[in-house]
Amino acid sequence: MAKQKKSAELVNANKEIAFQDQEKEKRAAELVIANKELAFQNNEKEKRAAELIIANKELAFQNNEKEKRAAELVIANKELVFQNNEKEKRETLNKELEAVSYSARLASQYSLSLIEASRDPLFTISPKGKITDLNQASVRVTGLSREKLIGTDFFDYFTDPDKARKGYQEVFAKGFVADYPLTVRDHNQTDVLFNGSVYKDDRGNVIGAVVVARDITEQKRIEKELIEAKVFAELATEIAEEAKRKAESATVIAEDAVKAKQQFLSNMSHEIRTPMNAIIGFTKVVLKTDLTAKQKEYLTAIKMSGDALIVLINDILDLAKVDAGKMTFVHTPFKLALSISAMLHLFETKIQEKNLELIKEYDNKIPEVLVGDPVRLHQIILNLVSNAVKFTTQGKITVSVRLLDENEEIATLEFAVKDTGIGIPENKIEKIFENFQQATSGTSRLYGGTGLGLAIVKQLVEPQGGSIKVKSKIDEGSTFSFILPFQKTKIEPELEIEPIELDTEIKHIKILVVEDIALNQLLMKTLLDDFGFEREIVANGRLAIEKLQTNSYDIILMDLQMPEMNGFEATEYIRNKMNSKVPIIALTADVTTVDLAKCKAVGMNDYIAKPVDEKLLYNKIIGLVKKPANMKTNVDKEHTDNKPKYTDLHYLMHRTKSDPKLMMEMISLYLEQTPPLISAMKESLKTKDWKSLYAAVHKMIPSFSIVGISTDFENMAKKVQEYASIQKQIDEIPAMVLQLETVCTQACKELEQEFNTIKNTKI
Ligand code: ADP
Repeated sequence: MAKQKKSAELVNANKEIAFQDQEKEKRAAELVIANKELAFQNNEKEKRAAELIIANKELAFQNNEKEKRAAELVIANKELVFQNNEKEKRETLNKELEAVSYSARLASQYSLSLIEASRDPLFTISPKGKITDLNQASVRVTGLSREKLIGTDFFDYFTDPDKARKGYQEVFAKGFVADYPLTVRDHNQTDVLFNGSVYKDDRGNVIGAVVVARDITEQKRIEKELIEAKVFAELATEIAEEAKRKAESATVIAEDAVKAKQQFLSNMSHEIRTPMNAIIGFTKVVLKTDLTAKQKEYLTAIKMSGDALIVLINDILDLAKVDAGKMTFVHTPFKLALSISAMLHLFETKIQEKNLELIKEYDNKIPEVLVGDPVRLHQIILNLVSNAVKFTTQGKITVSVRLLDENEEIATLEFAVKDTGIGIPENKIEKIFENFQQATSGTSRLYGGTGLGLAIVKQLVEPQGGSIKVKSKIDEGSTFSFILPFQKTKIEPELEIEPIELDTEIKHIKILVVEDIALNQLLMKTLLDDFGFEREIVANGRLAIEKLQTNSYDIILMDLQMPEMNGFEATEYIRNKMNSKVPIIALTADVTTVDLAKCKAVGMNDYIAKPVDEKLLYNKIIGLVKKPANMKTNVDKEHTDNKPKYTDLHYLMHRTKSDPKLMMEMISLYLEQTPPLISAMKESLKTKDWKSLYAAVHKMIPSFSIVGISTDFENMAKKVQEYASIQKQIDEIPAMVLQLETVCTQACKELEQEFNTIKNTKI
């Protein structure tokens, strides 16, 4: 093994030696090459040295050149600085130039946009009228392109070229034209207002004109619409006015119709009443004479028919009055219990005849004296009871009055009229309060009547603040009940005058009858002769006044409607011009429509309805003649001292604590102020100057209470004031003004006396 290893090592050593030899040979070869290289390098070195000399020479030359260049460079630098400066200058200039041209561009764009912004055609024209420039609106309006428009005659684009030509000529002649109306020849025929102004070059030469054609279509449309609207409005106003006129004339017609109806009813009633009054009056006269039983029976029938007719006429008149809104109510103290008893008395005979029973139920809690309209209440109950009697054949009729409610001022009462009669069908109950309505069509034939009674009752209850209702069952009976409020009072009512036996002392009564109708004159004559009174008869107010100038009378019976001078006028004259207090009783044909307030206002003492009830007439005459205040009076001035005093200085004394100086001052103030106010009041009434009348009366009113003139006159003055301010019921003003004049004049006289008395007492 070791041998093998040794041989192997040997082989390796041999191989190493061989390799070492090879390497030796390689190095020798490399050395040869290196030597060759070195020889080459030396050679090259020599070459380089030779080149270096040349290079040095070159360098010296180059340095020379360099210096030359440096000198040149200094010059070039200077040049460069100059050039740069110049360049900078140029650049600034350029920038400025650019800026200028930009703003110019901007300006032109601005004006262009301004021009384009105009929605109206805007163009420039040459002095010859050729279009030189234009905006888009012009293109739109004409429908032609810009190119087509430029250079053409501007006036050709209008419906009236001549007018357009004149317009543009005016621009150049005057320098401008404003709102020159033209119409563009487009398919819309646009209306424009042409406005133009010339423009000039630097030297002031006119080189063209700028023209705007303002489209006024919209304006025109609005104008047209406005005109149309105005026309419509005018038309509408006209229609409205026409309608108003029609309505007014319809109202006038309606009012005229109502007036005509009233007038007709009033005339007719007068016409019917006059003979009726005579018939009834004379029937009564004849009934008092010796008659056979048959004659008495017939005459009684005539009288009853007459009475029924009068009731019917009164009903119709009342209804007309309700229609005209002229139903008035008085407020007077009266005793209800007495009133009811007296009324039921009227039915006694009838009830006995029909074999019915009449029951009265009266609540004793009801205050004895109430304030209201006893005549109207009478009318209401009379209507209800007469219906109950009429529609009841057996059983009883109960009239009850009870106190429903009471406070310090008001007592509310419920009145009921109950019967056991035929009853009213349920479906008719609502209807029976209407005009001319009866429960069944056969009612009139069987029971008579007109269907007016309940309508009137309703109209008498409701305006007084009351209400009416009915409960009814067929064949069992009906109950009509109504509720009415009454004012309470402590004032005693004027006593009904008890019949006075004729005594010789008062037999010598002298009466003046003022009556135009011969029949009535005769009837009055008969009645008065019967009473044993002395009487004179005249036919109208004027004649009555003439009689009064020379004669004296105890009483005057005055008809109201008379020719020449009616009863109101005559009374007014007697009271105010003649200063006479002679008692006057109005004879009224128509108690339901007569204005009792008017009778009172003119100074009448009482009234009596025709047909005249002789007992009532007698009582009224005696009552008035016997009153000491109304003792025999005539025009004789001496008697004026008996007049009641209008003034009462209690209030003034109280206010002034009876200081005479103060009282005299107050009185003289009144005496100073009042006469001019009276004159102003009279004058304004004469000239129908309602404003001044109002003012005069207004100034008078406060003094009334100071000098103690009755509140009645104060209220009258207030009424005058009210009527004058709204100019209603002006026909009632003169009587009231006259009355106020009398009162105030008299008050002045009284106060003068008072003044003197105080003055004298003071001294
Ligand atoms: P007139 O009695 O004149 O017919 P009214 O207006 O007084 O008119 O009455 C209207 C109608 O109401 C009467 O026609 C009648 O049909 C009915 N009526 C009124 N009161 C009664 C009553 N007490 N009983 C039955 N029916 C009545």
